[in-house]
Amino acid sequence: MSGKKDYYEILGVPRNATKEQIREAYRRLAMLYHPDRNKSPDAEEKFKEISEAYAVLSDDEKRRQYDMLGQAGFQQQYTPEDIFRGTDFESIFRDLGFGFDFDNIFDFFFGGGGFRRENVGRDLYYELQITLEEAARGAEKEIEVYRSEVCDTCHGSGASPGTAPKTCNVCKGTGQVQRVQSSGFTRFVQITTCHACKGRGTVIETPCKECRGSGIVRRKRKIIVKVPQGIDEGYRLRLDGQGDIPPNGGRPGDLYIGIRIAPHKHFRREGDDIFYRLEISFPEAALGTEVTIPTLEGSTVLKIPPGTQPGETIRLHGKGMPRLDRGGRGDLIVEVNVSVPKKLTQRQRELIQELAKEFNVNHGKRERFFRF
Ligand SMILES: [Zn+2]
Ligand SMILES: [Zn+2]
Repeated sequence: MSGKKDYYEILGVPRNATKEQIREAYRRLAMLYHPDRNKSPDAEEKFKEISEAYAVLSDDEKRRQYDMLGQAGFQQQYTPEDIFRGTDFESIFRDLGFGFDFDNIFDFFFGGGGFRRENVGRDLYYELQITLEEAARGAEKEIEVYRSEVCDTCHGSGASPGTAPKTCNVCKGTGQVQRVQSSGFTRFVQITTCHACKGRGTVIETPCKECRGSGIVRRKRKIIVKVPQGIDEGYRLRLDGQGDIPPNGGRPGDLYIGIRIAPHKHFRREGDDIFYRLEISFPEAALGTEVTIPTLEGSTVLKIPPGTQPGETIRLHGKGMPRLDRGGRGDLIVEVNVSVPKKLTQRQRELIQELAKEFNVNHGKRERFFRF
């Protein structure tokens, strides 16, 4: 594929380009590099590159993913098949007067180019929200996804039970038809998918009732997702082969689980550490105390030493989140806030005034701060 180059740069469009700008840029570059026009080997490579960029940027979802994941991340998640799937090159090439039939675009771009053409089903995406406690402990969650599966009734053949698919007369079972075509001075053999059997090589005379002859059914499927300990917001789990089965047989796509972590009523998470904000009163801060605070496992008793200052933090080692990759755990960090009462009873007011006088005696030079 195009390696590390940026798709926007390849097409020479700004990152906020409209769909029309992207289409125009691709049309212009296709006129320069299309193999019908430009016979240099470099041009073919360039043509593949601009076509890949166009396949991604012309599709809202792929473009969004690309913007979010960046070049490397995107190419990790999308196979070449995924990238080209569903892109309408045909209308552009027809407009430009090129003679290629893009029934099988993948053969064109990667035929003999080192990429094995494989029929792979669609990847599926599922967003899973879990609690912070589940992220800490690890969890097994049952989810339900709609996906394409092989029909149980006909085992994917598409033929009604007791009957069998027959070899296609048009393509003699190869699934492809050949035609010799001319474009300019070049004659080439055009290989296209057989329309009679849609490339299957067989035709079904009595279709299976369950799947109407497609061999594939849409089904709601329960799947158990094992969420590893320490997972964080934004991670994705990849479940190999749990996506859609492709039409005409092949390997199923994958299922991606996007992890969301629900806001927690006590804790704020930063990486492997969690933060807890504790409110104590002035006397507690001054005299020290013991308070029960929540932890990921339940609760613990925390000693507040005498003279604790507002904003001071107390770190409980190993009480944070498990580390996903390194083992061990982060910390629970208690942020101590000393609250000043907004309303006072008569008795409280008198006591604090007493206290203020006492402070004034000992800190005469700060007297003005304590005059009531
Ligand atoms: Zn069936
Ligand atoms: Zn056929």
